[in-house]
Amino acid sequence: MKLCFFNDNRLGLVEANTVYDVSEALRQLPTSGYPYPQTDALITNLEQLTPEIIRLREGASSFPLNEVTLLSPVANPGKIVAAPVNYQAHLDEAIADPATFTRANVRKIQETGLFLKATSSLIGAGQQVVIGLPERRTDHEIELVAVIGKRAKNVSARDALSYVAGYSIGLDITIRGPEERSLRKSLDTYTVLGPWLVTADELSDPHALEMVLDINGEKRQHANTSDLIMDVAELIEFASQYYTLEPGDLLFTGTPEGVAPIVAGDRINARIDNIGQLSVDVVQS
Ligand code: MN
Repeated sequence: MKLCFFNDNRLGLVEANTVYDVSEALRQLPTSGYPYPQTDALITNLEQLTPEIIRLREGASSFPLNEVTLLSPVANPGKIVAAPVNYQAHLDEAIADPATFTRANVRKIQETGLFLKATSSLIGAGQQVVIGLPERRTDHEIELVAVIGKRAKNVSARDALSYVAGYSIGLDITIRGPEERSLRKSLDTYTVLGPWLVTADELSDPHALEMVLDINGEKRQHANTSDLIMDVAELIEFASQYYTLEPGDLLFTGTPEGVAPIVAGDRINARIDNIGQLSVDVVQS
């Protein structure tokens, strides 16, 4: 299934160029009182809700895909975990340009570990990336994103993919400079997720996916997830040694070479095999 959120938080089932409104399935989510769980309720209950989503598709009102406003397909991730420099060619380009990539931040992922992006930075493809600090260089980073489907603590890489609910395309928008990644990559709108979530049953091998990013039609990044230094399964094993991963947590797996600046007026198109294409506009604050 391809699941999206659209317009005023409607739940959509995407087929070809049509979005079917299956929001009524959300009524089956268990109600919870304060304090609310710090996990995404839909992803937590996705397996149980799937038959209802499929049932509702018949007779659902439908919309052309290009006429809806796409929001983040995961509404309430408890955390956004991200991998720094996880493609060798991106590590090489960073090492070659110390004026842009602060040396202290450019190390192998095994040495750097992971970082967190603020959940408040998350938007969907139908929203806009708002350049927060125009005087600073701000870059695009296309990334495969795994959405965690069930609680994971100290899982082995061998079992790790069974903890994934699905996959999506992420943009890890980044200010270059010496500060901590969690600061430079957490401005409002600097985490884009979409255009939808492809459930894991439809994407059996996340490690052989072509990815391409262009700006206004000009190709900037082109790689394959087979080039990941630490692959999705290894990232989950590594992350789950530190954090308990919860349903709805997002795992940004790192960007390949070709990162470059974006400015207001740009349109970012990011495509990953078996998922689709996310297009988002960049504007000035
Ligand atoms: Mn990144």
